[in-house]
Amino acid sequence: MAVLLDGKAASAAVRARLKEEVAELKEKGIVPGLAVIIVGDDPASRIYVNNKKKACAEVGIYSEEFALPADTTQEELLALVASLNGRSDINGILCQLPLPASLEEKPVIEAISPLKDVDAFHAANVGHIMIGDFSFVPCTPAGVMELLHVAGIDPAGKDCVVIGRSNIVGKPMAMLLLHENGTVTICHSKTKDLQAVCARADILVAAVGRAKFVTADMVKPGAVVVDVGMNRDENGKLCGDVDFGPVAEKASYITPVPGGVGPMTISMLLQNTVKAACLQNALLFDKR
Ligand code: NAP
Repeated sequence: MAVLLDGKAASAAVRARLKEEVAELKEKGIVPGLAVIIVGDDPASRIYVNNKKKACAEVGIYSEEFALPADTTQEELLALVASLNGRSDINGILCQLPLPASLEEKPVIEAISPLKDVDAFHAANVGHIMIGDFSFVPCTPAGVMELLHVAGIDPAGKDCVVIGRSNIVGKPMAMLLLHENGTVTICHSKTKDLQAVCARADILVAAVGRAKFVTADMVKPGAVVVDVGMNRDENGKLCGDVDFGPVAEKASYITPVPGGVGPMTISMLLQNTVKAACLQNALLFDKR
């Protein structure tokens, strides 16, 4: 039976460390600040935003919410981002996605100053990740790496397979594994013989968005299985992309859903915000 990669415990450890770092910054007169923009009234986005604000308060980060109506124009949203770029008490800016269909996401992402881009979605930060010289990493892949590090799992020389090639999860995930010397394969909906490719993986990361997509026959005995998916099963219960029970019988390590990658994502957002405050105040911050 696989060992659980416990995201709740790893996340608590990150937050405890950040709380100390924030207290030290406050002694220097610096209070890390995060602006959270939410447009419209999507219930899932509201839950995510509330959780992010609560997590900020837990470690002492100042957060300010900007809740805009669904009929906000592109110009109004861009004007808000521009004003936040200019505020010295705001070190990080995030715009909760998805935006209402009437608004374009790309110009908003590109309007956020790369130095305040704590989601690491701006093309400049994506480029930094590509060349391996980065300050901000998208929160979910960063959280996966933290889980591997905590468990002492080193991707070096291992066959790593990432299912999914989105800009926010799959692609940066693959780059981070590559930077740690994994031999990385990225799979997607056009991949031929997915089962055989996955069954070669020493580390298998599923970021597909389909409940119980990864079945035991796709998993090599002893593999590390990381489940990024957040889906609802036929009973409306939260579940990942991995068919947990049978896969856990075969894997060496596995992340549960809930309680695996999910809690890490917000902790990495907090970490990026503290990094941003350090960068903007010309203070050193460990490259994690
Ligand atoms: P996405 O943008 O929809 O990307 C899904 C990827 O899966 C795409 O690259 C797609 O391939 C691939 N895919 C779909 N069907 C496939 C198939 N049959 N075989 C192989 N690949 C297939 O999703 P995302 O934003 O990356 O998110 C993925 C999952 O992670 C979702 O469940 C999401 O809710 C979850 N998530 C969790 C967290 C967290 O904090 N835990 C954070 C972000 C996302 P194509 O590119 O060919 O279409």
